[in-house]
Amino acid sequence: MNCKQCNELLSQYIDLEVTPQDKVKIDQHLETCQACKTEYEELKAVSEMLKELPMKELPEGFEAELHEKLVEASQEMKAPKPKNEKVIQIKRSF
Ligand SMILES: [Zn+2]
Repeated sequence: MNCKQCNELLSQYIDLEVTPQDKVKIDQHLETCQACKTEYEELKAVSEMLKELPMKELPEGFEAELHEKLVEASQEMKAPKPKNEKVIQIKRSF
């Protein structure tokens, strides 16, 4: 096992998707290689952080709507006009 092989398997290792043979090799490599150990710890931290996030997915077009909302907000500040219908639609979709 070299560093390249180890890195390629790290995410699977964290998800426990490697074979027992590979796991042993990775365990051994991590014990002897500080660079990969650091890489492993960073990946593990990220993966644990992701697991703690609520699994609710963002609605389709979320970013586009957000952008639109921001553009509208700034336009309304310059030239205020009633846009209640549109605002309600955006709020509902959240
Ligand atoms: Zn290594």
